[in-house]
Amino acid sequence: MAQLSADGFAFGGPLMRVDEALALIGERVRPVARVEAVSIAKADGRFLAEAIIAPLDLPPFDNSAVDGWAVRHADLTRDAETVLPVVGRLAAGDAWSGPPPAAATAVRIFTGAPMPPGFDTVFMQEDVVADGDHVRLPPGLSSGANARIAGEDLPRGREALEAGRRIGPREIALLAALGITEVQVRARLRVAVFSTGDEVTEPGRRLPAGALYDSNRFVLGALCRRMGADVTDLGILPDDRVTIAGALREAGRGHDLILTSGGVSTGEEDHVKSAVEEAGSLTFWRIGIKPGRPVAMGLVGEAAFAGLPGNPVAVFVTFAHVVRPLLAAMAGGRLDPVRAYPVVAGFAYRKKEGRREYVRVLLERDGEGRLLARKHPREGAGVITSLTETDGLVELEEERRTLEPGETVGFIPYAALL
Ligand code: AMP
Ligand code: MG
Repeated sequence: MAQLSADGFAFGGPLMRVDEALALIGERVRPVARVEAVSIAKADGRFLAEAIIAPLDLPPFDNSAVDGWAVRHADLTRDAETVLPVVGRLAAGDAWSGPPPAAATAVRIFTGAPMPPGFDTVFMQEDVVADGDHVRLPPGLSSGANARIAGEDLPRGREALEAGRRIGPREIALLAALGITEVQVRARLRVAVFSTGDEVTEPGRRLPAGALYDSNRFVLGALCRRMGADVTDLGILPDDRVTIAGALREAGRGHDLILTSGGVSTGEEDHVKSAVEEAGSLTFWRIGIKPGRPVAMGLVGEAAFAGLPGNPVAVFVTFAHVVRPLLAAMAGGRLDPVRAYPVVAGFAYRKKEGRREYVRVLLERDGEGRLLARKHPREGAGVITSLTETDGLVELEEERRTLEPGETVGFIPYAALL
């Protein structure tokens, strides 16, 4: 259930900066998703509902990082070879039994085996000459080399993962290593998705003259699922206010968010805005982002509403920069910041001041080995191949008006937006 007041999305300015939109989402949107337990095997893509405190030391015991011979560093001769008798053998899974080894001895050891009591340093076997039941150890190895100390990765009692963290394969590795089998996560957000437009046709059907296949519902469904949401596919609605309003009202029950594309401009054939006003309440956001144009936000019944533009590239960009943070906030989640990495511009560009623009680019190496961003030749917001034939987006900040080849610009790989 959306925890938004009717004016929760209210904004007074003429053109909202992307940062303002994000700040507004951060301030006004409270987590709506319930909490549930999932096994770590099924936790990929979910948001942690509580912090994870390490219940044990990682690694749990002092052990060897290599195959070789363990020693006490204090037994070594400083500037010359040391010869020590080998008094035991420890493989992974073994435990040292009996009294600790005597002073000035070595123990044969393998990766992952526990360090013998009192021993602190391991010689790699490549560096050692084995001579019967003795080993000849070269000088110069520092104390503690090749030994992994209990808790050095993460000590027991320390926070391992913070609440809100999006769980991925790396987090699952840590949870499993800590012996944790189940975590409390936010329930999946329930997102209803539909497309609008009399020309928009279901893929697989015959394509009439003047029609095109629906692309937006599928990209939005995939993007929402990557954000851990449950998607209800509500199909394609005609350009008709009454039909859209009815569908919205129905979707407003049992969903946390309704997501639409198309029909949010101010033309005669754009009926989504008036339908939202009829079924709920609307706050129009003119976000200064290109491709994008206006994004309609609002409330319908229990659900928040976001109406994206119709052009597929604009759908992708506005989802990435507005809906994705909105979904994360509603799910009580925290996303990694979207960082733009410096690359060299391989193109000139003119833009309007006050608007953030995203240019679809392909990366290549220039003669000096630097990453060079090449602009896709086709700029239109409806050119879907400009997404499939590029590596990511160059971000041109609001203040900028021109870009010359050779300037450094920020590049965001698509993977960072999923
Ligand atoms: P609109 O915002 O409704 O004016 O649509 C802008 C452009 O996007 C038009 O050319 C539409 O045909 C196109 N469009 C709208 N919805 C979709 C969709 N679901 N899939 C692909 N293209 C669409
Ligand atoms: Mg339309």
